[in-house]
Amino acid sequence: MDLFTTDIKFLKGVGEHRAKLLQKLGVYTFNDLLELFPRDYILRDAKSSIGELEIGCRSSLTAEIVSIRETQHGRQRQLNVVLSDGEYNLLCTWFQYGTWLTDMIARGQKVWVSGMITTFRDQFQIVHPELEVLDKGEDTASFWHSRTVLPVYPLTDKLKIWQVRQMIYNIFRLYANDIEETLSDDILQKFGWLPRRISLQKIHFSTQPEQVAAYKTRYAFEELFYNQLMLAKVRRGHEDEQKGRVFELKKTYTTQLKNSLKFQLTSAQKRVIREIVEDMTSGYQMNRLLQGDVGSGKTIVTLFAMLIAVENGCQAVIMAPTEILAEQHFLSFTAFLAEMDIRIAMLKGGNYKGKKKTKEEIKSGDIQIIVGTHALLQKDVEFHKIGFVAVDEQHRFGVVQRSLIPAKGDNPDLLYMSATPIPRSLALTVYGDLTVSVIDEMPPGRKQIKTVWKGEGRRIDAYSHATAEVRDGRQIYIVCPLIEESEKSDLLAAETLYEDIKTTIMPGCRAELLHGRMKNKEKDEIMNRFKNHEFDVLVSTTVIEVGIDVPNATVMIIEHAERFGLAQLHQLRGRVGRGSAASFCYLVAYYPLTKVGKERLGTMVETNDGFVIAEKDLELRGPGEFFGTAQSGMDLFKHANIVRDRQLLIHARAVAGWVLDNDPELDSDDNQVIKKTYERLYSEREKLFSF
Ligand code: ADP
Ligand code: MG
Repeated sequence: MDLFTTDIKFLKGVGEHRAKLLQKLGVYTFNDLLELFPRDYILRDAKSSIGELEIGCRSSLTAEIVSIRETQHGRQRQLNVVLSDGEYNLLCTWFQYGTWLTDMIARGQKVWVSGMITTFRDQFQIVHPELEVLDKGEDTASFWHSRTVLPVYPLTDKLKIWQVRQMIYNIFRLYANDIEETLSDDILQKFGWLPRRISLQKIHFSTQPEQVAAYKTRYAFEELFYNQLMLAKVRRGHEDEQKGRVFELKKTYTTQLKNSLKFQLTSAQKRVIREIVEDMTSGYQMNRLLQGDVGSGKTIVTLFAMLIAVENGCQAVIMAPTEILAEQHFLSFTAFLAEMDIRIAMLKGGNYKGKKKTKEEIKSGDIQIIVGTHALLQKDVEFHKIGFVAVDEQHRFGVVQRSLIPAKGDNPDLLYMSATPIPRSLALTVYGDLTVSVIDEMPPGRKQIKTVWKGEGRRIDAYSHATAEVRDGRQIYIVCPLIEESEKSDLLAAETLYEDIKTTIMPGCRAELLHGRMKNKEKDEIMNRFKNHEFDVLVSTTVIEVGIDVPNATVMIIEHAERFGLAQLHQLRGRVGRGSAASFCYLVAYYPLTKVGKERLGTMVETNDGFVIAEKDLELRGPGEFFGTAQSGMDLFKHANIVRDRQLLIHARAVAGWVLDNDPELDSDDNQVIKKTYERLYSEREKLFSF
């Protein structure tokens, strides 16, 4: 039986209903369940020492229930359960619970609890711990009853831990012989890893949890290895087949542009332009990522590349994630190219006057430079001869979306622009050998943005400074994370803040509210009015994140800064400091702050360097932060952690290259297992990358 494809609902003890619950844990097939690794282990007989717990850390321990007490204050119920290790006590408290809990526990029972250790009246406490009763009578027949170590699995609401354990037991009891190897003998030997079946058993039925990390390494490697194999295959495919256009550097338009610039290109910009020229004049299709912090001057570099295509009689296209950004490009291109005989057009979504004509002129080739939004992806948009495609803020587009425009042309050269600096290790796994150009230098005269963080008690300092700036004719951004006060959260809502600003916090300043639930047209209209200085203070949710340029804005206040990721804070901060005046960023933080939260704020205060911030972010939060749902075309790794496994990634990359060098078609006997695994799990994904 093929465990990789068989639906988990067919496993004994699962069925339709539980299969749905398992899906929430990413378990769709038998193999997914095998690779649902325990996140912790319960040592049934371990003697825990409550006295050694550390406040502020997550801990797990086994102890005995010595008292259970329910109290009621008004409508607020509370359940206090005291555990003892014979010497010290631990108080477990629930404010929300039901009979499922009270019916399950009793004095004298041995239980395992897990959660964040805090203190209450000089006593260790866990609020809403995870709890498992360890000596339930009804379990005696179960395989797990006699085990001294119990695996703890990730859970969803309605799935019980013992149900998952039973499923795991069943899958091994019934299908152990169907567990196939996924790595070649060569690789297993090279790293000294156990066969797949044995290592899986050792992970789920461990008696020595401290050894499990070593067994898991192989699974992290496996993911990284196949990822690298895929990227290497795609790259080699590109080199073999994807012949690009050979452009000539004719120096007509490009030289005109260079001579008309009112500023000197930075040496980083010059270097990147050289890199691009080299690609475009070569026979290979360019496939390059252009990274540069906000304001580093990516646009002009891209324009040079576009002009090379135009000089050679081709069309050049740039796609931006929002209308306002597209418009910004359109206006600045129009200004840069004012003296040249080049036609530029912008294509937006929806129906508007002149759209039909624009489309016709794009199709006929009358228009050489095309700026647009997602609208460019529509089927009925046809081009004459695309030679170059740039995708701005590329991470905002899905992998599939990004590939649609190039598909309309005939191997155009591709440039992906990103203001989110991506650490090298991450870039390797996502882009493989997509070449990367980095603009790591700011145009001269840029003022550093002074960043300060304020506790909630001092937030008014930020607002008085902002008010003073408005009196000097400056504009202010204020960002908060949510739009409405919800029961679940005490976040300062944008709407409430907006009202407060108009009435009490910054009276006399003209303020407007912008939020994610507005229509795009409405948002763009407000942004345009802000740009024209028709009002002073823009209060918004995070929708202003991407690339808009308002040089007169000098203060950015971020409310609840502790809730934002570093990359996002950095992007937001980049909205100010775009003019010649000194600019400020206030991070308003609310207590209690976590250690990571404090570290993030500290990093923001210390540095303006996007790459330093990106590395730190990756370290603090993992790769999820970098790629939102737009990247769902490529699932992030289940087992590998790019920060922790940096070294493993380098090995995986080397091994993948080595395997393909020696056996490009994976024909050798030893590589059959790799070929089969690859075809089964990765060939679909490869298609997404092959553009
Ligand atoms: P980003 O990399 O964020 O897209 P832009 O390309 O929008 O940055 O550039 C930001 C601003 O800096 C623009 O107004 C642009 O004209 C200007 N600029 C670009 N390069 C230079 C330079 N070498 N010297 C001075 N100003 C520059
Ligand atoms: Mg930009």
